[in-house]
Amino acid sequence: MTDFKYTGERFADLQMLRYQLPGFAELSARQKAYIYYLAEATLWGRDITFDQYGKYNLLIRQTLEAVYTTLYAESAAAGTLSDDDAKALVVYLKRVWFSNGIYHHYGCDKFKPEFSQQFFETAVKSVPSDRLPMPADELLATIIPVMFDETLLPKRVNKANGEDLVKTSACNFYDGVTQEEVEKYYGDKKAAAGSCPPSFGLNSTLVKRDGKLQEDVWCLNGKYGKTISHIIENLAKAREYAENEQQKKIITLLIEYYTTGNLSTFDEYSIEWLKELDGRIDFINGFIEVYGDPLGYKAGWEGIVEYKDLEACRRTQTISNNAQWFEDHSPVDPRFRKPKVTGVVANAICAAMIGGEEYPSTAIGINLPNADWIRAQHGSKSVTITNFTGAYNKASQGNGFLEEFACDADTVALIRKYGDVCDDLHTDLHECLGHGSGRLLDGTDPDALKAYGNTIEEARADLFGLYYIADDKMVELGLVPDNEAYKSNYYTYIMNGMMTQTVRIKLGDNIEEAHMRNRALIANWCYKHGNGCIELQKREGKTFVIVNDYQRLRQLFAELLAEIQRIKSEGDYAAAQQLVEDYAVKINPELHKEMLQRYETLNIAPYKGFLNAKMTPVFSSDGEITDVTLDFSETLAEQMLRYSREYSVLLSNK
Ligand code: ZN
Repeated sequence: MTDFKYTGERFADLQMLRYQLPGFAELSARQKAYIYYLAEATLWGRDITFDQYGKYNLLIRQTLEAVYTTLYAESAAAGTLSDDDAKALVVYLKRVWFSNGIYHHYGCDKFKPEFSQQFFETAVKSVPSDRLPMPADELLATIIPVMFDETLLPKRVNKANGEDLVKTSACNFYDGVTQEEVEKYYGDKKAAAGSCPPSFGLNSTLVKRDGKLQEDVWCLNGKYGKTISHIIENLAKAREYAENEQQKKIITLLIEYYTTGNLSTFDEYSIEWLKELDGRIDFINGFIEVYGDPLGYKAGWEGIVEYKDLEACRRTQTISNNAQWFEDHSPVDPRFRKPKVTGVVANAICAAMIGGEEYPSTAIGINLPNADWIRAQHGSKSVTITNFTGAYNKASQGNGFLEEFACDADTVALIRKYGDVCDDLHTDLHECLGHGSGRLLDGTDPDALKAYGNTIEEARADLFGLYYIADDKMVELGLVPDNEAYKSNYYTYIMNGMMTQTVRIKLGDNIEEAHMRNRALIANWCYKHGNGCIELQKREGKTFVIVNDYQRLRQLFAELLAEIQRIKSEGDYAAAQQLVEDYAVKINPELHKEMLQRYETLNIAPYKGFLNAKMTPVFSSDGEITDVTLDFSETLAEQMLRYSREYSVLLSNK
């Protein structure tokens, strides 16, 4: 496929990319059919994520889509849309599609419509009423304040210290309850549970009715049941094409969990999922990550279907085979090391379909399951997604970013030479070893770090990777070409953490997202404690990071890793709070302003997301799938409108 186009539309702060499915054509018809039905199950979860990300998101999306298809679709596609309000509405809709709702997918703040309220009202009223989710007047009365009142629930996930995080967050996980009530409700459950507690609260909305707290569970006969029934149906079809008995067992357990909502079944499923290692194809489908809940109980819905990238798997296999060596030599207090590292499985995979929280903006590495006791007893499975990293690299070559921000030509050359291989390796180390390393002291509550837990955990995994990427063992194992390579990774890490990642944040805002906080924490801490190891140099009004001593920097990473591991192992909340608040939240406003200005001249979108391939099964006369064809030509609007037509049942009038 020489004419494959990686980049698609560019709008707001977003760039659409496409990813290829290398090796898909060589899969057997049976494997393709398995992927196809798992992919269908992935697409059926989309509306759950929209609803979780805000109570009115589905209503707003359907309204915007009705306006778009009735009034603007043709001229937008032809590029002849001329009215400023209409153009702004199209951009707003694309942002809503991209973010699964009206809040920025990364920063979590509410989009400000760049079109007037009056324009919007007129547009909605001109749409035939059968295309709208409810009568126009009632609809407008419901969604206008949500869309246009900037003071009304301005953030999807609010983490501001000292506020009621439940009341002030727009995410749709709680109704009528306070943070204190939520913490007590789940705190009591946890206190009463044994040593292998289910992930309390993971798959439900917590609601107060008649003064009583109740959980509306997300399952077949509960909340989201209408769309969960389609997920179940497609999982059942996929099961017929599974590659082995273990995959069938996993799917059966997942269907049972979706049917009953029983969290113990989910744990059982997770444990069996860990044991499935032989198949080429794997998937995630469910309520997984808790970043979207300020308190970290409720999981957003996500799905991904994947198949092993056999070539790249050799790299991650090498890392996993040596997991015990890495654990034994890690610079943390031996009391916090795992005496026996179990089940560190690492695979390089190609994504075949992404959905929910993973779409269109996606992770490039995944490590699951999340339950600490399962990780401790059964290990974890880890993947890096090579067709995403490949597409990112292809799209970023020659955009001018490095030339602008790296300190000199030699450093640019260093990063050009080693950057890709080291970035992939760091991601592998983070996912395969970092998250799976270390242990809690007996009696430590895994949630002791509360709102700081995610940041500390990500910092721990990153530091583990940073420490080892510079180890001679990397050269010995053939994972890097020589012992200079790691410097490219160290340089870009510090540059990103101290400076360039802030281009994703509005001037005056704090850093909120856990991964960004972790990078700032590590970079700023090393700057502060390095005694000149890292310098900020100013030349002609531009600030540059200089790393004067790479070996010293490695030592700093080791020191910080030891401290972060101690905090996690002991559950030292006060220390976690201090580290995060001191190094990971605030941005120097002058430096921030400079970054934004320099970045703007490059005209690069700070965020990227992926369009899926469109899969079409080919059936034989007796109804067997003989092939699945892939089409990469859809635009964002075409893909999103198709998904809304074909995979949307949650709104009541449909
Ligand atoms: Zn991570």
